[in-house]
Amino acid sequence: MKRNWLLINSMLKKMNRNYHIDKLNATKEFDICIIGGGATGLGIAVDAASRGCKTILLEKYDFAKGTSSRSTKLVHGGVRYLQQGNIKLVMEALKERGLLKKNAPHLVKNQSFVIPNYKWWENSFYGVGLKVYDWMAGSLGLGPSQLLNKEETLALAPNLDEDGLRGGVLYHDGQFDDARLAIHLAMTASDHGAVVINYMSAEGLMKENEKVCGVIAKDSFDDKEYEIKAKAVINATGIFSDSIAKMDDKDAEPLISHSQGIHLVFDKEFLLSDTAIMIPRTDDGRVLFAVPWHNKIIIGTTDTPVSFGDNVETRHALSLQRMHEPIAFKEEIDFVMAHIHRYLKKDPSYNDIRSVFAGLRPLVKSNSKITSAISRDHHISVSDSELISITGGKWTTYRKMAEDVMEIAIHKAGMSEKECVTKNLHIHGYKENSDYTAALYYYGTDKYEIQDLIKKDTSLAELIHPSLPYIKAEIIWALQNEMCMTVEDALSRRTRALLLDAKAAIESTSLVANMMAKEMGKNESWIKEQIDSFISVAKNYLPTSNPKLQTSN
Ligand SMILES: Cc1cc2nc3c(=O)[nH]c(=O)nc-3n(C[C@H](O)[C@H](O)[C@H](O)COP(=O)(O)OP(=O)(O)OC[C@H]3O[C@@H](n4cnc5c(N)ncnc54)[C@H](O)[C@@H]3O)c2cc1C
Repeated sequence: MKRNWLLINSMLKKMNRNYHIDKLNATKEFDICIIGGGATGLGIAVDAASRGCKTILLEKYDFAKGTSSRSTKLVHGGVRYLQQGNIKLVMEALKERGLLKKNAPHLVKNQSFVIPNYKWWENSFYGVGLKVYDWMAGSLGLGPSQLLNKEETLALAPNLDEDGLRGGVLYHDGQFDDARLAIHLAMTASDHGAVVINYMSAEGLMKENEKVCGVIAKDSFDDKEYEIKAKAVINATGIFSDSIAKMDDKDAEPLISHSQGIHLVFDKEFLLSDTAIMIPRTDDGRVLFAVPWHNKIIIGTTDTPVSFGDNVETRHALSLQRMHEPIAFKEEIDFVMAHIHRYLKKDPSYNDIRSVFAGLRPLVKSNSKITSAISRDHHISVSDSELISITGGKWTTYRKMAEDVMEIAIHKAGMSEKECVTKNLHIHGYKENSDYTAALYYYGTDKYEIQDLIKKDTSLAELIHPSLPYIKAEIIWALQNEMCMTVEDALSRRTRALLLDAKAAIESTSLVANMMAKEMGKNESWIKEQIDSFISVAKNYLPTSNPKLQTSN
C-alpha cells in the first residue's frame, strides 16, 4: 500500500505526457481550459490549479516555443517605461519582480547593471531616475542604485569604451532563464493537479447555446482528436490570439500586430565581468542591454514591425512558419552591432556571434474595439460567446496577468469564489540560498535527482558537446520528467544549447537524437527525421555569415 502511494506520488511529481493524457481522458469536464503554453498560459494554469480549479492547458508545440523562450531574460520593472512616465506599469512590474524572486529564488537572480555616461548631464539624470526606481520597488527592492565615477564604472564593466566616459550609474534588476521558468511553471501546475499537454493543438471551439463550452484539440503525434469540455476557455496564445478568436467568431476583427526583437549571443570576453551594461538610448529611442547569461552575453533587442497579413485564415504556410520560428533580419543584426561597437573597447565581429535569436511581440492595435483593458500593459477581452482572451504584458508580470484573468474566468464560469494564492506560492524546485555559480543550480531541488541519475550511470556526467555547459543527465532528466518530446525541445528549451551556440547545438544533434531514441524506444527513421527537423530550425540561429539571412523589405 505504502509502495503504491509512493509510486503515485512520484508520478504526480513528474511531468509525464502519457500520464497527463490519461488524466484528460478520465475527466468529464474541466473548470478551466487554457489554450497556449507560454508565460501567460502557464501562469494561468498555476493560478487556476492552485486555487483548486480542475485545469487543463493545451500547447500546440512545446511549452515556451513562442515568444516566451525568446526574451531578454530580465525580470524587471522596465527602466524604459519609467523614462516614458508609465509609473503604474513600472510599480506593478517591480512588485511582481520581487514576488517572483521570493517564490523562485532558484530561477531568478539579482543582476547588477551599469549605465555608462558619456555626457555631462547623464549621471544626475539617470541617477535620479534610478533612485525613483529603487523607491518604487520599496521593500521588494534588489539593492540600491549608486552613482559611479569613471574608475568605478570601468571596474564593473572593463570592456566599456573609455574615450569620453564620465562615469555611470549602478542599479539592480532580476535575471532568469525564460524557458526553464516556463518548464518549472508547467511542473508547478502539474504538481497542483493540472493537466498540461504539449504538442496538443486547439483546432476548434465547442459551443452550447452560443456560449463556448470547450475545445476540440488534436494530438500532433497520433492525430487523435479530443473534445474537451470546460466551464471557461481562456485564449492565451500571444501572437496567435487572432486565430483562436476566429474559431469563436469568423468575423472577429484582427487585434494583434507584430513587432520583432532580436538578440545576439557572444562569448563573455566582450563583457569581462558579471555586471550587465544598459545603453539608455539607441537611435530609435529604445534601450539596449548586454547581459551575462549562462557564461555568454546576450545583446539586444530591436523593435521591427513585421506583417504576416491580417487574414489569419489565408495566411501563407511560410508566414505561419515564420511566426513560429521568426528569423532575424540583416538590418536588425547590423543595428545591434553598430550600437554595441559605439560602447565597447574590444569590439565583437560578426564572426564572433555564437547565435542569433528572434521573438515576436503581440501588440494590441490601438484602434481595436477591445472590450476591456485591465492595465495599459496587458489586455483581457471577453467575446459575446464568453471566450476569454488575454494578451500583451511581459514575462515579469505573468503572475498578476493570471490573477486578473482568473478573477474574470471564475465569475464567467459561475464557479464559487476561490482565492488566488500565487503571491506566496513556491515555484517547482524552490530552493533558498541558491549558488548561481554552481552546476545545475537552475533545477533547484530537482538537481539532487539529476545527481542521482549520475550516481547510477557515471557516463551521464559527460558533456553533450565541449563548447556547451550541458551534460547527458540533463537530457535524460528532461525526457523522464519535463515532457521533452523532440530534439528541438532538448536543445532549445530544456537546455538552451541553440541559443548559446548554434553551431555547437547542431554538432550535438546526432548524439542527443540517439540518446533520446534509446530512452524513448524510437527507430532510425525517427532519429533521421529529428536531426533534419532540428537542423532546419537551427540554421536560422547561425551568425550572419549565413547568406540566407534576409532583409526586411
Ligand atoms: C524580443 C523580446 C524581448 C522580451 N524581453 C522580455 C524581458 O526581458 N522580460 C520580460 O518580462 N518580458 C520580456 N518580453 C515579453 C515576454 O517575452 C512576453 O510578454 C511573453 O513571453 C508572452 O508570453 P505569451 O504566453 O503571451 O505568448 P507565447 O510565449 O508566444 O505563448 C503563446 C503559445 O500559444 C501557443 N499556441 C498558438 N496557437 C495554439 C493553438 N491553436 N493551440 C494551442 N496552443 C497554441 C504557441 O505555440 C505559443 O507557445 C520580451 C518580448 C520580446 C519579443
